[in-house]
Amino acid sequence: MIFTHMAPDGDAMGSSLAMWHWCKEQRDNVQSTKDNVQCTKEVTVIVPNAFPAFFNWMPGADKILVYEKNQMKCNEIIAKADLFICTDFNDPKRIGPMGEKMLANGCPKILIDHHILVESQKSKDRDEVAQRPKEWYDEKHVDSGASSACEIVYKLIAAERPLALKAEIATCIYTGLMTDTGNFSYNSTSAELYDIIASLLRAGVQKDAIYDAVFNQYSSDRMRLIGYALHRKMRIYPEHHLALITLTADELERYHHQPGDCEGLVNMPLQIGDVFYSVFMREERAKPGTPKSRIRISFRSQGDRPVNVWASEVFRGGGHMNASGGELFGSMDQAVRLFEQSYGKYIKKD
Ligand code: 5GP
Ligand code: MN
Repeated sequence: MIFTHMAPDGDAMGSSLAMWHWCKEQRDNVQSTKDNVQCTKEVTVIVPNAFPAFFNWMPGADKILVYEKNQMKCNEIIAKADLFICTDFNDPKRIGPMGEKMLANGCPKILIDHHILVESQKSKDRDEVAQRPKEWYDEKHVDSGASSACEIVYKLIAAERPLALKAEIATCIYTGLMTDTGNFSYNSTSAELYDIIASLLRAGVQKDAIYDAVFNQYSSDRMRLIGYALHRKMRIYPEHHLALITLTADELERYHHQPGDCEGLVNMPLQIGDVFYSVFMREERAKPGTPKSRIRISFRSQGDRPVNVWASEVFRGGGHMNASGGELFGSMDQAVRLFEQSYGKYIKKD
């Protein structure tokens, strides 16, 4: 069973699907090399909620199960699984209700990730930290310096025999490298990364086609939503080199919001010369039976200006130094108030 995080991005999709293809390949090799061994293991990728349509083309995406849409079947698979591989996250919370179900199944768990491990994250809420299962995994492949989970997947399954790499696996890995580095515009200065890319190209990756499939297939609604957000909803706090964009559920619905439509929006204010921090808040309506809506918050920054402590201490999240996320259950006004009360503490004075 392969899990990746909620609101899957290109790295989540790429790392989980690459592992899926690879596991199936290993299974089929066992079958073909040893006539008397019958390996019948099934391999399944389950994501907590829908992924953006611009990943539908990825090899294997059509076989992914979406937990929110198919809970019964997913619960059955999770309960029966005899190995879990978790990619691109390290906190069971990041796979929603499936986290508890995975922990309830005592079988081995392998972690493949490039985020800072929970154990070393600071949190205001000490009780919550104490409740978190430490070392819930049995084997870890974690490098917080890696550009992406896909880079770690490459090192695990392909680095030793790059010439044996199948095009579909290479394509999945390339997609994660490309999306997690903003098409190689950040977190992408190591020469080693370009050696990996060269191997992926040799394995048959069509890099320009992948770029087109991911970044040039948006709807006109999405384009107008971005225009509206930048024109009408971006606040700039010039003395703090900070920008904030908020979008309520009503506003998103007006533009027929689809998963993935806001992808990249939080990075845009950083294109302004003297904006070094950008925060984006998006409201998700309260689920039936729950009283409060959820505000998803994305943080981005440039250079030596960490945002992960802010995300972790104020919005129960975390992440990388320059790209973090968190959440608040309540109203958009509450989230903005908390943001305005807290930025002074977490923003570096230049
Ligand atoms: P995004 O803004 O793209 O949703 O998230 C950016 C990064 O922040 C992710 O790659 C992930 O590292 C981190 N992140 C986002 N949301 C959360 C969260 O709720 N908890 C933690 N620990 N990290 C998060
Ligand atoms: Mn990632």
